[in-house]
Amino acid sequence: MPDAAIRVVGILEAEGFEAWFVGGFVRDALLGRPCSDIDIASNASWQQAQALFEAAGFKTHETGIVHGTLTVLVGNEAFEVTTYRRDGAYSDSRHPSSVEFVSSIEEDLARRDFTMNAIAFHPLRGLLDPYGGVGDLQAKTIRAVGDPAKRFSEDALRILRACRFAAQLGFDIEDETLFGMLSNKGIVYRVSAERVTHELDRLLTAPFAGSALAKYVDVLSCVLPELVSMKGFEQHTPYHIYDVLEHTAHVVDGVPAYRLVRWAALFHDMGKPACFFFGKNGVGHFYGHANVSVMLARGIMSRLKMSPTFANRVLTLVKHHDEVVEPTPRAVKRMLARLDGDVELFCALCDLKRGDARGQAPHCAGRIDAAYELEKVLADIQKTNEAFTLQSLAIDGRDVMALGIPHGPEVGKALSRALDAVIDERVPNEKSALLDYLSK
Ligand code: ATP
Ligand code: MG
Repeated sequence: MPDAAIRVVGILEAEGFEAWFVGGFVRDALLGRPCSDIDIASNASWQQAQALFEAAGFKTHETGIVHGTLTVLVGNEAFEVTTYRRDGAYSDSRHPSSVEFVSSIEEDLARRDFTMNAIAFHPLRGLLDPYGGVGDLQAKTIRAVGDPAKRFSEDALRILRACRFAAQLGFDIEDETLFGMLSNKGIVYRVSAERVTHELDRLLTAPFAGSALAKYVDVLSCVLPELVSMKGFEQHTPYHIYDVLEHTAHVVDGVPAYRLVRWAALFHDMGKPACFFFGKNGVGHFYGHANVSVMLARGIMSRLKMSPTFANRVLTLVKHHDEVVEPTPRAVKRMLARLDGDVELFCALCDLKRGDARGQAPHCAGRIDAAYELEKVLADIQKTNEAFTLQSLAIDGRDVMALGIPHGPEVGKALSRALDAVIDERVPNEKSALLDYLSK
């Protein structure tokens, strides 16, 4: 418990108000997890709280005063102090049309989403846990506060929050709660794309992302309907022991937990069900599936309003995830050139390839090492400063135009041809040799 947090509560209580630590801070402290934001609930109004903190010499920001929230700065630390409140009627399954300030912490806890998020803590009075949140934390259970169907129908974002917490904590969603989520998933479309993306980002970068994805696919299908055809889709190949969704879940969990590669893992085989056919030998084939996965991923990321720069990087990984790259300098430089020389993207591709191999049948484990080999070759290429981008060529566009090629796309094509020749070691990366090669 940071001293500064105790001071904030102390300042309120010295003037006769009541204050409690609430929300994710209490939950995470009980779980022994680090927590980013500390929320304090109090019966002081935000104006009363502001007057007290400013008199004590602390800066405050009116960050959410419509909802009764004031941010208090103690040194570099920020605390959100929120007046006890009850949310009024919800008109759109997302925003309460009004908030009503109430006098007791119990009423404030009743508006919170899950029992584990409805525990209050006070340094002297201890825990206040009217909904059995501590027991649910011990049992690793996510349970709605109150009637699940009603709680999800008033705020559909809670449906995604439940899946996200399952992915972050490795918890199971309690049956009635899950039923309430399923019966309301049809209204998640009312949640803004930005909020959906924010929750999916947090879900995908969490430690139990893949398992949550597989377990709660029937809920997540409300924002990612493309997952439905992956569920139970058997692959019938010697390389896979899982269906497409289970395999994807293993790949997501098998790649490092950063955003770029986790999104690419989610999408990499999404096109498989659409491309499947039985070969003459009875073995499943998926020719061209990466391109169909790209098409689906593009649609999803545009619908989720993700940044085009990020989306393009994800699409590049999906597109190339299945291409065989031999662990030779030439093959690695060729792939680097296809990635516009983006070394970070190349490493993400190696991460994805390793994850993909981890999600295949055990006898494919050799493919995991193959991706490490590629990174070793990359390191050697970097050490010797070998060319793999147009920028690293000894000639540029002006040199090409001086050969008589007019300004336009032909210049780029000529440079690419020169780069191919350098990568293939047919021509040294020297100006005269390259110009001679191009003029021929
Ligand atoms: P994290 O900060 O890791 O996202 P958190 O539980 O602290 O988790 P916040 O969004 O910071 O989540 O919200 C703080 C608290 O406010 C929650 O613990 C919960 O009690 C309550 N809360 C947040 N969003 C909702 C919601 N949509 N419906 C009901 N209660 C909510
Ligand atoms: Mg929080």
